[in-house]
Formats: sequence, C-alpha cells, structure tokens
Amino acid sequence: MYHCVQELDLNESTYEYLKEPFRFIEVSFPLKTDSGEVKFLKGYRSQHNNALGPYKGGIRFHPEVTVEETKALSMWMTLKCALVGVPFGGGKGGVVCDPRSMSMREKERVSREYIRSMGNFLGPQIDIPAPDVYTDAQVMAWMADEYSNIKQQPAFGVVTGKPLPVGGCIGREEATSRGCVYAVKEAANILNIPLDGARVVIQGAGNVGIHAARLLDYAGAKIIAISDSRGGVINQEGLDVNQVYHHKKKTGALKGFEGGDAVEAWEIFDLDCEIMIPAAMEKQITEKNAGSIKAKIIAEGANGPTTPEADKILKDRGVLVIPDILANAGGVTVSYFEWVQNNYGFQWNQGKVNQQLEQKITDAFRMAYDFIQNRTEIDMRTGAYMYAIRRLAEAMEYRGWL
Ligand code: NAD
Repeated sequence: MYHCVQELDLNESTYEYLKEPFRFIEVSFPLKTDSGEVKFLKGYRSQHNNALGPYKGGIRFHPEVTVEETKALSMWMTLKCALVGVPFGGGKGGVVCDPRSMSMREKERVSREYIRSMGNFLGPQIDIPAPDVYTDAQVMAWMADEYSNIKQQPAFGVVTGKPLPVGGCIGREEATSRGCVYAVKEAANILNIPLDGARVVIQGAGNVGIHAARLLDYAGAKIIAISDSRGGVINQEGLDVNQVYHHKKKTGALKGFEGGDAVEAWEIFDLDCEIMIPAAMEKQITEKNAGSIKAKIIAEGANGPTTPEADKILKDRGVLVIPDILANAGGVTVSYFEWVQNNYGFQWNQGKVNQQLEQKITDAFRMAYDFIQNRTEIDMRTGAYMYAIRRLAEAMEYRGWL
C-alpha cells in the first residue's frame, strides 16, 4: 500500500490513515451451550476507515478468526468500497467459534450475544455488518432483531444480507458470485476466451463458490471441479451443478457426491482449465502451487486467497488475476442497494438489482484495467488498489484530514 501511495504521489499521511484500523473492539461473551455448560467466546470488530461513509463489512464465525486477520479484512473492505464507488468505509468482524459443531440455538445465542456486546459501536449510519464465512441470512436476521430490541424500534438497516421479509434485498444471497461472474466475463473478453465451454475450477462450495458455479454453468461454462474443506469432486465432462448444490445442501458436504471422482481438496489446483475461482479462505494460492496452476484467469471470490509471492509467479506466467477487492465486490455492492432500500422503505426488483450491479462491477473492472495499461510493471491488483487509494485520498483531502 505504501508503494501505491508513493506511486500516486500522494501526501504520505494517506498511508498513515490506511495502515491501521481507526478502532478495534475486542469482547468476550458467554455462550450457554445446549448441554448447560457456559463457554466464553472472543468477538472482534475492526473499524478501519470511514472517510467515505459508515464502516461496512462481514462477520465471520470460524475457529481460526484472529485479530490480525480481522484487521486485514477490514482494510480490504475500505479499498473495495472505494473501488466500486459505494459510500461506505471498511469494517470486519468475527467470532472465534466452530459453527459446524454448534446447534441452530447455539448459533442464535452467539449472534445475539455478539450484538449485545458490540451494539453501541454499530448502527445504520455507524457500522453495518453483513454475512461472511459460516454466517448467513438467518444469522443477520437474529442480529437485526437483537439490535432492534436494544433500540426498542425496528432498525433492520443495521445489517445487510438479511432474509427478504425482514428488509433483505432480492439477489443478495448470490450477489458476490454474480459480481464475480460479471468480472470474469470482462476478463474473458479481454483474453478472447469464450465463456461457452470454458473449463472452471472452484475452491469452496459455500455461498460464493456454489453460486459462482451455478451462474457460470448457466452462462455455458463447464464446472469441472469444486471442493470444500473436506475434499473435492472432479468431472472432466462437467459436473451437474444443480445436483452438487442439492447434495451439499442436504448433507452439508460434497463428500459422497456420486456425479464425479472424489479427490483431496488441494488436488483441484493443478487441473487444466481456463478459469479458477478460489472462494474459500485466505492464503490458498502460494509459491508452492502457483507454478502449477493452468488457469488463464483467476477470479478471487475469497478475500486474500493469493499470497504476494504467488502473485509474482502468476504475473510472470501471464495469468490475469482479478483481485478480491473487485472480484468479490458484488456482495458489498448489493448490500449497499439493500441499505438504500431500508433507508427508503422500498424494494427493488431483481432486474434493477442485477442491472445496477453489472454496471458497478464492469465500471470498476474497466477503471482498474485502464490503470494498468502502458504500465507493464504493475498487475491488476495494484491497479485496483491505486484507483481505490486515489479516491480515498480525495475524500480525506476534502474532509480536511490531509
Ligand atoms: P461460506 O462459509 O458460505 O463457505 C466457505 C466454503 O469454503 C465452505 O464450503 C467450506 O467448506 C470451504 N472451505 C473452507 N476451507 C477450505 C479449504 N481449505 N479447501 C476447500 N474449501 C474450503 O463462506 P462464503 O460466504 O462463501 O465466503 C467465502 C470467501 O468469500 C471468504 O473469503 C469470504 O470472506 C469471501 N467473501 C464472501 C462474501 C459473501 O457475500 N458471502 C462477500 C465477499 C467475500
């Protein structure tokens, strides 16, 4: 980031404003388990920068959530919102827990306790969480309800990614994947790769991965492999994505899916394909596997899936990496649409949501891509960062911070 600030010839304080979150909140709260035992869980919220508007970013429930990870994710949110031009700052939250071994009632208690401990720092004009890894629309509904209880009035705009009857936005569930597919279409156009018949490999079969599979399948691409945390499945003829979806939904895992060959999760990385979508966790593409990746386009559905060392290898090999702050910005973009609708008490239709989303993502793609033209030394990630940082610096300058 320092390099981008220098390259753009910006005031050095710009970097100081961006290198650390403005505020970091750490709480410890009780979870009364179904068996009556009381456990204490750590919860975090990182509020990185609000130069452009209220803090915005998901809440993750995962055993490996850390302070550093939460801070880094909140910084990416600041850049992401600036890149796609939504009036939000960057935030991120997490709870150190394993929802895979929790009942629905336990998950509900965790969601409500998180809001009870953090409520004062959140609000529709202050900081607006959303779903992330192992949190979903139901978790957001419990959180919106708890916040409304505290405020003694319906205040659903405090979170986005809610179910439709409590102020959700049509198309929010698959918005991140839809945005990712719009970005992939732009990249495929540039590289002259027809989407029809293009082979796609996807890591992660959660919200982002599974919907990316469905949308790309619908666009004519062939999904030849997909994985989750317990293993992968490959079919060179193309997986029946609907069957994969229903199997995962019913059993909670890809394991046991009979329409392809079962493999270890890591084995999908060196398959021959045109498009790869890492849609699971950070640091999945490293210097160890970047050299054997065959894809021509990598669209980062996940946040931070590629390490800096791997980035260099991929650039040298001519792989077009669509960076996370662009490839997965569809989620926050439709979250913004949801927040606007909550503020107005109005609901858009699917056509309007998709059309506005496509516009935002393709505009952001072209801005970042234009930025790297005639600058062979920088990759698309750097171009996207530079564009976003320039926008943030402008806002900070106008606000008198610089
Ligand atoms: P999710 O919980 O719905 O799904 C995560 C998936 O990743 C699960 O299928 C899990 O089994 C799989 N997984 C975990 N570790 C794995 C491994 N080592 N190998 C293969 N698969 C593995 O989460 P999600 O909402 O789909 O989020 C995925 C990524 O996308 C995260 O990085 C998240 O920050 C990012 N993201 C999500 C959204 C959103 O709207 N949900 C928006 C922007 C970015």
